[in-house]
Amino acid sequence: MPIFDNPNQIIRPEILALAPYHVQPATGMIKLDAMENPYRLPTALCDEIARLAADAPINRYPDASADALKFALRQALDIPDEMGILLGNGSDEIIQIIAMAVAKPNAILMSVEPAFVMFRMIATFTHIQYMGVPLKNDFSLDLEAMLLAIARYRPAVIFLAYPNNPTGNLFNADAILSVIQASSGLVVIDEAYHAFAGASFMEKLTHFPNLLVMRTLSKLGLAGLRLGLLVGGSDWVMQFEKMRLPYNIGIMTQLIAEKVLQHTNVLLEQAETIKSERSIMSTFLSAMEQLEVFPSDANFILFRVNKADQIFQVLKQRNILIKKLDGTHALLENCLRVTIGTPDENQQFCTALHTILNH
Ligand SMILES: *Cc1c(COP(=O)(O)O)cnc(C)c1O
Repeated sequence: MPIFDNPNQIIRPEILALAPYHVQPATGMIKLDAMENPYRLPTALCDEIARLAADAPINRYPDASADALKFALRQALDIPDEMGILLGNGSDEIIQIIAMAVAKPNAILMSVEPAFVMFRMIATFTHIQYMGVPLKNDFSLDLEAMLLAIARYRPAVIFLAYPNNPTGNLFNADAILSVIQASSGLVVIDEAYHAFAGASFMEKLTHFPNLLVMRTLSKLGLAGLRLGLLVGGSDWVMQFEKMRLPYNIGIMTQLIAEKVLQHTNVLLEQAETIKSERSIMSTFLSAMEQLEVFPSDANFILFRVNKADQIFQVLKQRNILIKKLDGTHALLENCLRVTIGTPDENQQFCTALHTILNH
């Protein structure tokens, strides 16, 4: 009988070297770490969802192409008629599909640094080389460096989050257009925070054949459903469709998302509340002289403070969970990120931070 090798001998070395994506335990805490919408849906809508769930034929596979859901998305998100849609189990899955599809030997997946960590992680999963072009100190796009890197490395795909996570800012739209025009590969604009930004490349799709726009319902209030989408030319979408695992969007996600999208105004009103809370919180934090607060077009705020690690820990002891970015990238030294919660949660966070810094 053969003796089994242990994982160290079987698993790819770059996977062995990975640190697992860490989700912080949050039971019973004020959860301001993951860019979730803090609001629930209205009771009447929840009742409708309950009835849909009760009647759903869960003994059957779901609609493989999710046509009804795609139609609802087209209406709700102003997707140009001529564009194709690819659905993912969260937009993370879409990033993975694109990366797998372009991962020829020596192909490069490019993004900026700091950016959404999944761009780099998924590049590793899918065996495509990752290259991150540093942002400037103020987290703006370094266009000159980008154009040089594009000319030199000819990336198969560039991912740019707009607004960017974890920094919260929108890159200059003209700079992004220059990147799209300079690139001979794909450029994916990840608009996960679109609802809080009011800016989009969706209407540019018809002008640039190498442009794709990615959205998700996660930050909008449906994080638990897991639904992301890619919008772009049907020639691209057709190829990616081949790599989408059959039935990746479950029947509950299809039914509930379709229902909620008939009430997009509910989600958009919640987003408006979050935006006004963002402005209140940003003003409050900016008034604290110990903090450097970065402008945000998303549903979170990035700030820098001395001894960020210690402050993060003390907040946690007080049952307030935010995200520590200190230690993840040189530009994020002493940086913390707080998601905008309910007015009460935000107040508790602000009061606690104020107390910690002034005791
Ligand atoms: C949260 C986030 C996503 C992932 O969203 P899911 O649809 O929940 O997988 C994608 N891109 C960025 C920039 C994000 O911040």
